[in-house]
Amino acid sequence: MNDYQKEELEALEQISQTMVQLKPDERIMLSEMIEPYLSFRRKLDAFLSGKFSDHCTSSCYQNNLSACCSKDGIITFWADAVINLFCSSKAQIQDVYKSLKEPWSQVKCTYLTPGGCCWKVRPLVCAMFICDSAQKNVFGKNAQAKTKWRQFERTAKSFRWPDKIVLFDSLERCFMEKGCRSSLMHLNTSPGLLNIKKKYGVKLY
Ligand code: SF4
Repeated sequence: MNDYQKEELEALEQISQTMVQLKPDERIMLSEMIEPYLSFRRKLDAFLSGKFSDHCTSSCYQNNLSACCSKDGIITFWADAVINLFCSSKAQIQDVYKSLKEPWSQVKCTYLTPGGCCWKVRPLVCAMFICDSAQKNVFGKNAQAKTKWRQFERTAKSFRWPDKIVLFDSLERCFMEKGCRSSLMHLNTSPGLLNIKKKYGVKLY
């Protein structure tokens, strides 16, 4: 395992250990916090599947390119991992742990398995990735789809961009209250994002 895998694994272990200790009312609260985001992700998935699957299957999948998952270390946020673990079965969580313990590859994401991405709810940065070629091909022929995509981008930002208290920050704070700390808590550790919070008067943890 390299440092990236260790960092990810450590975060997942903290989240798993904290989640099993949640009281029923805390689980309900977490579920209610996450539901608007999951609703957004369902709509996003339907849009991507409807507009992009033909292009992506023929241009990447069949040619083994899969450019979006060929990066060796994508940036995941604490909230991405919380949401994924919250929505995953025990077997799916084990698959994530297993993938992190595989030998490091320079040519693919550590979470990419022969069956595809092992995350049940992929990180937001992955869900929002459409390569230039796909954008050009699909949006070039469909201006409405491009407008819809811009709306998705704005909604995605509203969950993560800390010009107010946003879901990704709230999820970090919930787990910080329980003693968790991680470099994946970008909303509370990244100097750039902390500056945004200061600029907009968002209370720091
Ligand atoms: S986390 Fe999943 S979707 Fe994102 S780059 Fe890795 S394999 Fe691809």
